[in-house]
Amino acid sequence: MDRKKVAVIGGGASGIFAAIKAASNGHAVTIYEHTDSIGKKLLVTGNGKCNFTNLNMGEEYYHSSTDNGLISGVLLRFGLKETLDFFDKLGLYTKEKNGGIYPYTDTSRTVLNLLKTELKRLKVNIVCMKDIKELMPEGMVNGDDYDAVILAAGGLTAKNTGSDGSGMKLLKDMGCRMIKPYPALCPLPVKEDLSALKGVRCRAVLSLITDGRLKMSSRGELQPYEGGLSGICAFDLSGEAALAVREKKQVKVECDLFPETDDEGFGTHILSMKNRHPGIGIKDILTGMLNEKLINHILHPLDERKDSFINDLTGAVKHRTYEISDKITGDYSKAQVTGGGLCLSELNDDLSLKRFPKIRVCGEVLDVYGNCGGYNLQWAMSSGYVAGDIL
Ligand SMILES: Cc1cc2nc3c(=O)[nH]c(=O)nc-3n(C[C@H](O)[C@H](O)[C@H](O)COP(=O)(O)OP(=O)(O)OC[C@H]3O[C@@H](n4cnc5c(N)ncnc54)[C@H](O)[C@@H]3O)c2cc1C
Repeated sequence: MDRKKVAVIGGGASGIFAAIKAASNGHAVTIYEHTDSIGKKLLVTGNGKCNFTNLNMGEEYYHSSTDNGLISGVLLRFGLKETLDFFDKLGLYTKEKNGGIYPYTDTSRTVLNLLKTELKRLKVNIVCMKDIKELMPEGMVNGDDYDAVILAAGGLTAKNTGSDGSGMKLLKDMGCRMIKPYPALCPLPVKEDLSALKGVRCRAVLSLITDGRLKMSSRGELQPYEGGLSGICAFDLSGEAALAVREKKQVKVECDLFPETDDEGFGTHILSMKNRHPGIGIKDILTGMLNEKLINHILHPLDERKDSFINDLTGAVKHRTYEISDKITGDYSKAQVTGGGLCLSELNDDLSLKRFPKIRVCGEVLDVYGNCGGYNLQWAMSSGYVAGDIL
């Protein structure tokens, strides 16, 4: 194999993996990073614990409006098994929680340090504080000619780590087709004031309803805050919600606040409690099932004297709907990833641009993001590996 000169723009997880793969194929690799160090975002992932993959891996955990089979192709080449083998070779001990895989030390610094050691072993040249302002089809970067250029410049989230959307601009300037970016994996802002629910944590199933149709559901811990709904189940719906709001659809989230039973089971339980304890009120019955703040919120508009009360209560607990506010489309400050980006149809299977084959693209700058649980770092690593697999 010829030793080629490869430039990687961006020193995040995808750029690091692209560099490691290209260098282990024998090429001379330089990473250009515009902050003062590589891997800054990696350090803040998983609350500093770095949930880097998940035992339940597959393309069904990913979102893209332009996928044509590319996501599954990438995961097939470098997926869960290959990732675990890779880190095992670097000596990383791991642990598992609810399917998510973390470093045994519970600190993302461990992962970054091992990756840095590997980059050093492979003699990857790292140039920090270098902002790349232009992509050239013939492969020139920073005044040097390269045989291949890998753009791994990320999206728009966590700007303090260097991801300022400049990668998307570089592609747009070349005339590439882009999906306008939107925030994803963020809380769902709703039109109703939920201040009274601040501090509540409960199990829930959330369903996203766009123009009256069920789009997707997610189960997990719900954490309401004054402006909306947070928690992993809310995060998982947020990208699709932002996209639908931007498309001017009517977007609602339906919350099942007691997913332990179906509607009938819930109604039957309330009725049987009423029959067994004729003297007690509905608030006392719900006390054994729901958080107190939630009970007040639910009961507030209901009238216990009505014949329809059990049905109304079941609706209020298991089909409670909130309208999503349009604040969701513009606020990246609480988002973990960026939806949208480069249309996947612009790429060959090896992640080179169809029109400019010297340039490859990987990571969050592509129109792909995953659910919470390690899927985004897995995408960064998988796509980085494929982009770096230059022969
Ligand atoms: C708070 C938070 C927690 C998260 N937790 C998890 C988690 O636990 N598990 C998970 O799977 N995912 C998590 N994610 C998402 C995950 O971190 C990202 O999807 C992933 O790191 C993206 O990697 P990337 O290499 O594509 O982009 P980035 O990490 O954004 O890297 C891009 C790099 O390119 C550099 N750059 C950009 N433009 C230029 C330019 N013009 N010239 C030179 N350099 C440039 C940037 O400075 C940056 O270093 C989290 C994200 C956030 C914000």
